Amino acid sequence: MASVKRVYSASDLVDARLLADSLADECIRTHLFNASAVGAMGDVPFGEAWPEVWIADERDLSRAREVVAAHAARQPSGGSLRCSGCGEESPSNFGCCWNCGMDVGAGSQPASAAGCVR
Ligand SMILES: [Zn+2]
Repeated sequence: MASVKRVYSASDLVDARLLADSLADECIRTHLFNASAVGAMGDVPFGEAWPEVWIADERDLSRAREVVAAHAARQPSGGSLRCSGCGEESPSNFGCCWNCGMDVGAGSQPASAAGCVR
């Protein structure tokens, strides 16, 4: 008998849907929980309203964990990146150094797409 397993708590519904799509690409069936609660956050106790991604079959768990890890790696870490050009730190969600404009996006996006000057 297969049982469901929670694999991820998302920060928002878009995040949860992106992960569910990634899992679907691996033929892993998912359920989204709390997807409808997000719009009514004011009525829901904090910490219980975040969208959660569950897999339908725990035999997919190890593969799902890999997808989750890859998904999480694409999210801004909230840390900072040191510019290799001038040594200043920029928030990790910046594509370019705030100081000199060099690409500091850790390869996440091309410098041209991020609008960096070099
Ligand atoms: Zn710089």
